[in-house]
Amino acid sequence: MLQDSFGRVATDLRVSLTDRCNLRCSYCMPPEGLEWLPKPELLTADEIVRLVTIGVERLGITEVRYTGGEPLLRRELTDIVSRTASLAPAPQVSLTTNGIGLSRTAASLAAAGLSRVNVSLDTLDRETFKRLAHRDRLNDVLRGLEAADAAGLRPVKINTVLMRGINDHEAVPLLRYCLERGYELRFIEQMPLDAQHGWTRENMITADEILARLREDFRLTDDDPVERGSAPAEGFLVDGGPARVGVIGSVTRPFCGACDRVRLTADGQIRNCLFATDESDLRAAMRSGADDDEIAERWRSAVRIKKAGHGIDDPSFLQPSRPMSAIGG
Ligand code: SAM
Repeated sequence: MLQDSFGRVATDLRVSLTDRCNLRCSYCMPPEGLEWLPKPELLTADEIVRLVTIGVERLGITEVRYTGGEPLLRRELTDIVSRTASLAPAPQVSLTTNGIGLSRTAASLAAAGLSRVNVSLDTLDRETFKRLAHRDRLNDVLRGLEAADAAGLRPVKINTVLMRGINDHEAVPLLRYCLERGYELRFIEQMPLDAQHGWTRENMITADEILARLREDFRLTDDDPVERGSAPAEGFLVDGGPARVGVIGSVTRPFCGACDRVRLTADGQIRNCLFATDESDLRAAMRSGADDDEIAERWRSAVRIKKAGHGIDDPSFLQPSRPMSAIGG
């Protein structure tokens, strides 16, 4: 098991397949992009599958989420998914993606064993998309969503980050869009994880603000807290249900006490928290010949020292040196 000193057990592994992305969402990276990891530093597909196998077979990982950067940019994605889905005991395999390219790949990913997708969608307006993501790709995202739904990658979950003065007027239209299509929408508070260090508390649209805005148009009732479990989203039934909406108040309503996540970066570093400033280098261990037992022990040690909380509210809080795109959201 991957257990920390506070008794939390990590069962949900987020694996970043690349730090590259074909969008430039301003809450994540600057318009000119970033200096990408050099190829030799990236884990190969075999190395990824080896580490995931250790996680699943020896360390109690039950859910594997591939992310990035943009995971659809990784050519071997279908192969990696297929090899992950055929592990025993079989983990649930999901994907966090911006949806670009999903219209071509959704069916083969589903056939390979992918169970569902989380797609980022911050706006329904083409001009706002261009302004926010610095690329004219809204239609590709919407087509990708339809393809994911048609391929049975359900429930299709949508992640939305609202930014003040940019897309914060779209909370209601986005929820209507998702309700009409049976997608499950979750709003995520913007976190201090952008490469430009441009996050400010004042500009963050809080969970309270989002809920107040939604309540002007919908009746929201608390979803069963037991069902929430370790899920980061606080769930609400919309107009009596069964449709739901989620709000992930990472900053103002932290859920660190229930966290069951551990992260593996594209260059093979274990991070016990999105906001961790330390990492444990499994790539170096693997490339210097460590066996599976040694790697598993290194991984356990990395999780054991996880802090109680992310500490964003602590005056000594330091933003991690890696941005979200290089950690894996
Ligand atoms: N490229 C994929 C995508 O767009 O979903 C996967 C990687 S992306 C880093 C994963 C998620 O992190 C997205 O839903 C994105 O909106 C979210 N994200 C990125 N930066 C964020 C930030 N500073 N605060 C909150 N969420 C953020």
